[in-house]
Amino acid sequence: MSYSEIIKLIKKTGKQAEIADEVIEQIIEPQRIVEVNISAKDDKGNNKIFKAYRVQHNNARGPYKGGIRYHPGVNLEEVKILACLMSLKTAVINIPFGGAKGGICVNPKELSRGELKRLTKSFARSIYDIVGEQKDIPAPDVNTDGKIMRWFRQEYEKITESHAPGVITGKSFADGGIKVRDEATGLGGAAIVEEIAKSLGKKPEQISVAIQGFGNVGRHIAHHLYHMGFKIVAIADVDGGVSHEDGLDYHQTFKHRSQGKKLDEICYCDVHGASEDCIGVGAQEVLESDVDILIPAAVGDQITQKNAGKIKAKIIVEMANHPVSEEAEKILEKKGVIIVPDILANSGGVLASYFEWNENVNGVKMEYSQAFENLCKRMKMALKEVSKISQREKISLREGAYYIALKRIANATKN
Ligand code: NAD
Repeated sequence: MSYSEIIKLIKKTGKQAEIADEVIEQIIEPQRIVEVNISAKDDKGNNKIFKAYRVQHNNARGPYKGGIRYHPGVNLEEVKILACLMSLKTAVINIPFGGAKGGICVNPKELSRGELKRLTKSFARSIYDIVGEQKDIPAPDVNTDGKIMRWFRQEYEKITESHAPGVITGKSFADGGIKVRDEATGLGGAAIVEEIAKSLGKKPEQISVAIQGFGNVGRHIAHHLYHMGFKIVAIADVDGGVSHEDGLDYHQTFKHRSQGKKLDEICYCDVHGASEDCIGVGAQEVLESDVDILIPAAVGDQITQKNAGKIKAKIIVEMANHPVSEEAEKILEKKGVIIVPDILANSGGVLASYFEWNENVNGVKMEYSQAFENLCKRMKMALKEVSKISQREKISLREGAYYIALKRIANATKN
C-alpha cells in the first residue's frame, strides 16, 4: 500500500467517522521524522556509513511503538507507511500506545556478528534521546531479533545510566520477555478465525483453510488452527507447498520442514493411507485453493489484479502486512469476498508486546495461560467491534478498522 493510498483511506473513513478535517490532517502527518547517518566499524577496522530512520507517527494514545528492520530496501517512504499503520494497529486493538517504525538500510546477511552488534549500538547512540519506556518502544521486525534488541537496550541503558527493560519489547524470556510473544501474531490470527467460525455457526472441522507462508506467523497460526480442529488443506512456503483434501497434520509438516525438506516433498501416506492423495502446490497456486478461508502469511502484494479473479476463498485473513493490493480488493469485493484487514488480523504481536511492556514497566505479570487467554479474548473483541461498525456504516472491515482506530486517536488528540 502506498502512502497516498493510506491517506486516501484515512480521509475517507475519517469523514465517515465525522472527525474534523484539521484533526485528520494532524493524524496523517508523522509527528517526527529522524533520519541519521550512522557509522560502524567493519571487522577490518574501516568505518562504514549507513542510512537509518525512526519515524514517530503519533503518540496521542501513548508512547510510540513499532519495530526496527534491517534491510537493503529500507527507505523513508516505507518507514513512514509502516509507522502510520502502527498507530492504526495499536488503536484498533486498543492498547495505550501510538505508532512508530525504524530501520537501517543494510543487508544484515553480509555482516558478521561483531559488525551487526557495532551497527546496532551505533543506532542506539544516535536515537537514544528520542526512545524510552515512556517515549518510544522499538521491537524486532524484518531481520532483527531478541539478540539485536538486547544490544540496543544495553547501549541505551549505558548512555542513560538506567535499568530500562521496557525500552524494547520482543526480548527473550531470560531478558524480561514473555513466553507468549513468539507465537502471539499467529495465535491472534487463529483467535480471529475461531471467532469467524462461531459467527458463521460452524464447527472448526467444517471449515477448510489454506495458508501461504510457513515462517513465524504461518507456522504458529497453522499450529493453533490445527489444534482448534480446523481443516488445513494446503500450506505453501516460498519453495513450494503441500495440499491434501482431508487436511494436513501440522506436526508432520513442521517436523519435515524443520529437517530442511521442502513442503512438496512431504508424504502423508502414513497419515492418510495413500501417497497419491498428497498434492504439491506452488507458493502462488496455494492462494487459489478451493477453501473457506485463505490466510496469506508470507509477504506483501501477493493478491493483485492478476490473480484476484482466481481466488476461491470466501474469507481472507490478512496475516502478512498488505498481502492484497487495492485493485485486487475491488475485484474481491465484487465477488463478495470478506477481508479481515492486516491492522486487525496481525495485531496479536503488538498486543503481546504491550503485555511485556506492562510487566516490565508497571509490574503487571501474567502467567502464560493468562496471556494466552487475554490475547485471544482481546483479538475476538476487536473483531466484533470492527464488524459491528462495518455493518452499521455499510463499509468493509478494513474501513471499519480504520474508522475505529481514527476515532480513538482523534478522541485522544489534544488541540
Ligand atoms: P518470516 O520471515 O518468519 O516468514 C515468512 C515466510 O514466508 C518464510 O517462511 C518465507 O519462506 C515465506 N515466503 C516468502 N515469500 C513467499 C511467497 N511468495 N510464497 C510463499 N511463502 C513465502 O516472517 P513472519 O514473521 O512470519 O512474517 C510474515 C508476515 O507477517 C510479514 O508480512 C510480516 O510483516 C507480517 N507480520 C509479522 C508479525 C510477527 O510478529 N512476526 C507481526 C505482524 C505482521
